Formats: sequence, structure tokens, C-alpha cells
Amino acid sequence: MPTYEYLCNDCKEKFEIEMTLAEKDTGKKPSCPKCKSKKVVQVLGNVNVIGSKRESSTPPPSCGPSCPTCPRY
Ligand SMILES: [Zn+2]
Repeated sequence: MPTYEYLCNDCKEKFEIEMTLAEKDTGKKPSCPKCKSKKVVQVLGNVNVIGSKRESSTPPPSCGPSCPTCPRY
């Protein structure tokens, strides 16, 4: 199952959600696991496929060595 990365517009939390393509096609949107906000946006280009290169450029400002959700660190 593909994993999609989302960013919460309210608390800037970045999180990953596993969703089937069928589920995604229904326009289903996850809610923020931290503040339960529905104002989340998908971080494009960050679908986790093993073997593929990540093409994301700049991480969000909240992202850093102390970020608990970012697999980069
Ligand atoms: Zn949030």
C-alpha cells in the first residue's frame, strides 16, 4: 500500500498515511493525528516507493534533527 505524506496547515505537523488508490480516488482526506484538523495538504513527490529516489527539495520549517516524524533524520 502506498504511503502518502501530508502536512497540517494548523500545527505544521507532518505525517504519513497509508491509503489505497481506491481510497484516494474517493477524495478521502486524513485528519491531523496531532490536532485533528482537516486542513491538511498532501506533500507531493514524497510517495514512498522502495528503490525510487525522493525528489522533494525543501523540508517544511518545522522539520529538523528533532523532528520525530521525519524519516530523513
Ligand atoms: Zn495539526
